Amino acid sequence: MKKNTRLTTIGRDPENNHGIVNPPVYHASTILFSSLDDLEQRDSHSYRNLSYGIQGTPTTFALEDAFTELEGAYRSIAVSSGLMACTVSLMSFVESGDHILMADSVYGPTRRFCNNVLSKMGVETTYYDPMIGAGIDKLIRENTRVVYCESPGSHTFEIQDIDAISAAAHQHGAIVIVDNTWAAGYYYRPLEHGADVSIQAATKYIGGHSDVMMGLIAMTEKTYDAINDMTVNLGTHAAPDDCYLTLRGLRSMPARLAQHYKSGLEVASWLKQRPEVDKVLHPALPDCPGHELWKRDFTGACGLFAIALHDFSRNALAAMLDDLELFNMGASWGGFESLILPGVKKFNRKQSPWPYHGPLLRLHVGLEDPEDLINDLAAGFERLNDAS
Ligand SMILES: *Cc1c(COP(=O)(O)O)cnc(C)c1O
Repeated sequence: MKKNTRLTTIGRDPENNHGIVNPPVYHASTILFSSLDDLEQRDSHSYRNLSYGIQGTPTTFALEDAFTELEGAYRSIAVSSGLMACTVSLMSFVESGDHILMADSVYGPTRRFCNNVLSKMGVETTYYDPMIGAGIDKLIRENTRVVYCESPGSHTFEIQDIDAISAAAHQHGAIVIVDNTWAAGYYYRPLEHGADVSIQAATKYIGGHSDVMMGLIAMTEKTYDAINDMTVNLGTHAAPDDCYLTLRGLRSMPARLAQHYKSGLEVASWLKQRPEVDKVLHPALPDCPGHELWKRDFTGACGLFAIALHDFSRNALAAMLDDLELFNMGASWGGFESLILPGVKKFNRKQSPWPYHGPLLRLHVGLEDPEDLINDLAAGFERLNDAS
């Protein structure tokens, strides 16, 4: 069956559920055992053995099965947030004295976790230029356990060569983890390009409605045990109502993504013509670092991209942003609504110097009519120019 068909059927079992289309929400802490034998034989670490609510319920398992299908994985685990998916995956493969290679374009809180938490546990992080490709080989040390990628970087949109990075990492026995939130597992499947672990903030496109926090981790057989053990040890539980909402979001994700792709490209192409804009960082457009890799590896794009403006003052930027009607300011993305986020100050790059002079704006193009979105931005540019 084709991808869209599989995504509407996987993780459902109406025949064993009174004919109801969606799996029910099972809430659980306590799970009862009917005999001393049963109780003593429980093995809380065995696969999908219900012994305590922290390991999830059939609601969790339905979501995990669907994600396994989406990412083409061996197994998947749902955790409480996208950030938890990032941090627990990293922790699963390192101990004191180990070394991690981290893409310099990575999501800020993942960077913060390495700098503030892993460093205290004796794990060293080296940041690398996301465009390094096979050159990663030279940075891998004897104690390098993980090469962590985010493709594209969720603020600056560099597409990474996961095939080349994975080949080099595996020669040295290192694990490759990819944050695949942007492509949502729908336009790119890292495990098919050599990665060992693909994680997503399902908070974004899978949830799709700006009302749920969820992290999902898809693994190969080789990496499953280590990550599963760490989730058990840490108690990374994803709540059943949130699993239900996330799985419900997944059902309509292909249709939503197709619209985000189309509208996003339309708005990005319009922005490319604007004199205020220095660069449009949309992986489907040639200005974006790694555009050739996007053409080689990806089958589409979501609605998230950035623009680098020419030099404008903060006042002028505020005049533009404060009165936008449809592009509201706020963290996260992947919902049905458009968002805009100025970001340049927060970046603290080590290896790949910041190439843009003016402010960087990250846009999420939602499901509104793109003509209205363009009109909103055009009025914003007018205010930007008037205030300059
Ligand atoms: C949002 C995001 C995360 C974290 O997800 P949360 O669910 O918000 O914790 C991780 N990686 C990327 C690329 C993100 O955009």
